This record gives sequence, structure tokens and C-alpha cells, in this order.
Amino acid sequence: MTELVQHWSDGKVYAGTSGARAPITNPATGQVTAQVALANVDDARTVIAAAAAAYPQWRDTSLAKRTQVLFAFRELLNSRKKELARIITSEHGKTVPDALGEIERGLEVVEFACGIPYLLRGGFTENASTKVDVYSIRQPLGPVAVISPFNFPAMVPMWFFPIAIAAGNTVVLKPSEKDPSASLWLARLWAEAGLAPGVFNVLQGDKAAVDELITNPAIKSVSFVGSTPIAQHVYATATATGKRVQALGGAKNHAVILPDADLDLAADSMVNAGFGSAGERCMAISVCVTVGSIADELVAKVAERANNLKTGDGTRHTDMGPLVTKAHREKVASYIDASEAAGAKVVVDGRAVRPDGAPDGFWLGPTLIDHVNTDMSAYTDEIFGPVLSVVRVETYDEAMALVNSNPYGNGTAIFTNDGGAARRFQNEVEVGMVGINLPIPVPMAYYSFGGWKASLFGDAHAHGIEGVQFFTRGKAVTQRWLDPSHGGINLGFPQNR
Ligand code: NAD
Repeated sequence: MTELVQHWSDGKVYAGTSGARAPITNPATGQVTAQVALANVDDARTVIAAAAAAYPQWRDTSLAKRTQVLFAFRELLNSRKKELARIITSEHGKTVPDALGEIERGLEVVEFACGIPYLLRGGFTENASTKVDVYSIRQPLGPVAVISPFNFPAMVPMWFFPIAIAAGNTVVLKPSEKDPSASLWLARLWAEAGLAPGVFNVLQGDKAAVDELITNPAIKSVSFVGSTPIAQHVYATATATGKRVQALGGAKNHAVILPDADLDLAADSMVNAGFGSAGERCMAISVCVTVGSIADELVAKVAERANNLKTGDGTRHTDMGPLVTKAHREKVASYIDASEAAGAKVVVDGRAVRPDGAPDGFWLGPTLIDHVNTDMSAYTDEIFGPVLSVVRVETYDEAMALVNSNPYGNGTAIFTNDGGAARRFQNEVEVGMVGINLPIPVPMAYYSFGGWKASLFGDAHAHGIEGVQFFTRGKAVTQRWLDPSHGGINLGFPQNR
């Protein structure tokens, strides 16, 4: 019997009533290793009801008690992260060190959320009017939904739930059905840390689960991360039902290499950011824009490094694992075929990879395509695989126009030794996260993560102060005590004196 990955509701596993299942595959072997339950509407309502029932008590739990649980969760996660990393590798395919990296970045958000008593402090103004004081407080929203993609099964949910829980909300997490086991492992860890049942819940499933979460009146906010078309659907639907929504979408991240850049640094960075996690990162660099005469030299340096990468099973000492599914592997490979047919030059061809792994794994090696132009599908589409396209331009202005005319605006980077050029770039570029001489500018937990344009729908970026504000509502209180001179009857609008 294959294992069934179930929902987590009210502090325990919940099988649900739907009976629908999806296979979970190890991408490095191509073997089905387990099944995941797919929620129907009734299952979703059961899990949402658990979050709603737990809310009043959790909201009223003191900050001192809430932070004790957060610190305990942080300690448990830190001590057991290798266990979680292996689970991620077995369902996603990324290498174990890469999986550990995503857990570390999630841990940073847990650590940030441990400071919630400080972050939730309100303001107080004594004697705003005569013997009248005004103060502000921030209160939780209620049960909130987090809907996450396959590519970061631990980190992306952790961008949201530590802050949501710390602020007094209860959570329903809907992870990707492709790698759902990490979410259940995290749920058990919360229970071990002493979190009350119903505060953190997991709803397994696909569109049916999502559509109930984004319309159910009990859910007060939605934090979504995934592809742009689904982010748009989630944003439009959930805001129409009155929810607060942050919906992070896809990306097409450009790195601009100026002629004065350190080309070895730039080449290392293109390889790390283009091929790490097999390019299945929303902050992956997928377009390398070379400015001026450096293109041939840079392409040669990137090719040399890419040819030395070891693709294979992420539990072995490899640089890059497989793609997440067979279908995705075929789709990514089709972009290489198409750009070749359209006249681009495939300099390093991942289709010919010889992996260190099982024959049925979903392998595609690092691929470098030169002379890509903006009409080719390899340029226009988010490929989400280990494919780095080189677009050659002559000037900085052309490079900037290219980046800014792209519909996405998640991350970007510039490589240069000219501080003035870098400063101009960070000022002019219409992208939410900018790297200067570094390729994956993922902000620390105490800053906020988020792109612009088609990479994020909504006002609030993830974590940092914006995360705290997203998961709380402001309330301003005006008070007067023991004031015999209140003025008696006066139907005019209150004025401050
Ligand atoms: P996806 O959009 O297919 O799925 C994301 C979530 O939506 C999953 O939980 C999935 O079950 C659900 N979903 C899928 N189809 C749905 C539908 N029709 N209706 C309702 N819900 C649906 O994304 P993915 O393939 O899991 O992840 C890769 C995508 O996520 C890429 O586009 C990547 O750029 C993006 N991403 C963005 C960020 C960011 O910060 N902007 C971070 C990570 C990933």
C-alpha cells in the first residue's frame, strides 16, 4: 500500500471524504512514492471550520505565550532541518544542500516573527485633546489562507505562516500537490512545539481546494504564490469576496552585464542563478543581457562552467537535480527545440545530459542559448527550467528598455564596477528586487519580498513590516476618563481643543 499524505485539521491528520488522490513522484527516479489526498468542498470546509474554531482562543493568547511557542518551533526546526531537507529533495528533486538553504531562509522569517511583541506595539498620544488620549493597536484578521507553489515547499509557506500565527491569526495552508509532505511535517512540528490544535492546518488539494479557500467567508486573507495566470485568478476572485490578498506570480529575471564588469564574477553568478535548483526558482536568472563587446568572452566563461556541472540525484554530491515532473521536463526541452529552430545557438545543450541518477528521472542538464531575440518563445515565456538565454545589446539604454518592457518585474541584477551606473540602474529599473553584483537578491526576513507588475498582484509584499501589516488590522481608540468638563450636549462634529 502506498502511503497517503493527508490533511491536517484541528491538531491531527484528517483523511477527508473526497477519496480523490494524486500521485507523488520522486523526480530523481520517476517512481510514484505516495499519494496525496485531494480535498473536495466539504473537506475544505471542515479544515476551514477548524481554523475558525481555534481563532478566538489563539487571538486572546498572550504575546508571551505565543512567542514561547514560536521559539520552541524555531528550535525544533533548526535541530531537525536535515530531516525536512531530505523530504523536500525526495519530492521536488533539488539537491539536499539546496533544500537546506530554503529551510534556512524560512527559519529567518520564524526568527523575525519571534520579535512580534515589539513589531505589534501601537502608538499612544496623551492629551490629544484636553484630557483625551488617542492610541492605536493592531489586531489579527482571523483565519487566513496560504497557497503555495511546488518550488519552495518549506520556504514559501514560511514567508507567511510564522508572522500570521505570531500576530494571532489561525492558518490554513494549501501546499502544492506535487510535493505536499513538507507541509504535514511542519504541522507535526508545530504540534510538538505546543501550538494549540486548529491554529495551523493543512488542506491538501488542487483547484477545488483553492477555489473554496478564496471564496469561503470565514477566510479573511489570502497569501498566494504561484504562476501569474493563477495569481490573477486568485487575486480577482478573493478580492471580489472582500478578502485582503497578496498574490505573487511568475518571473522572467534579467541580469545586465556591463562591459566593465568582473566577468568571472558575472559568469559564476549566471551559472549559480541560472541553473541552481534546475532553474525552478522565481528568482532564477533566465536572461543574461550582455552590453557591448563582452558577449563572446562571457558566453565562453559561462559555457565552461556549465559544462562542468554535475546533474543528478539530489541526495548524491551533485550540483543540480531533475525537473519536478516528466511533463515539465518535456515542456522545458521544447523551448530549447523551438529556439534552435528559430535560429538561436545552443551553446550548452542540456538535452544531451548524462546524469548521475536513475534512468527514469526527469533529467535536463544546464542549457545556454546564445543570440536569443525577443520574439523567441524562450524569451517571451517563463520557462522555469535550467535554460539561460543570452540577449546581446549594444548600450545600457537598450538593456534598460529590455528589462523595463518585460511584463514581469520580480528580480533583476546588474554587474558592473561603475558605482554611478549601478546607482542609475537601481533607480530606473521597474523591478521589485534588485541585485548589484549579486544575482539572487532575495531580501532578508526583516525586509519584504515581492516583485512588481505581473509578478505580484496586491499591495503588500511578503514578510518584513509589510507582512506584519498584512496579517493585522489597525484600530485607533480615542478615550476620555474622569472629565467633568466634557462640554455637555453638542451635536457638532467633535473638534480638538
Ligand atoms: P502554479 O500556479 O501551478 O500553482 C501554485 C498553487 O496554485 C498550487 O498550490 C496549485 O495547487 C494551485 N493551483 C494550480 N492551478 C490552479 C487553478 N487552476 N486554480 C486554483 N489553484 C491552482 O505554480 P507552480 O507550478 O506550483 O509554481 C511555479 C510558479 O510559481 C512559477 O511561475 C514561479 O515563478 C512562481 N513562483 C513565484 C514566486 C514569487 O515570489 N513571485 C515564488 C515561487 C514561485
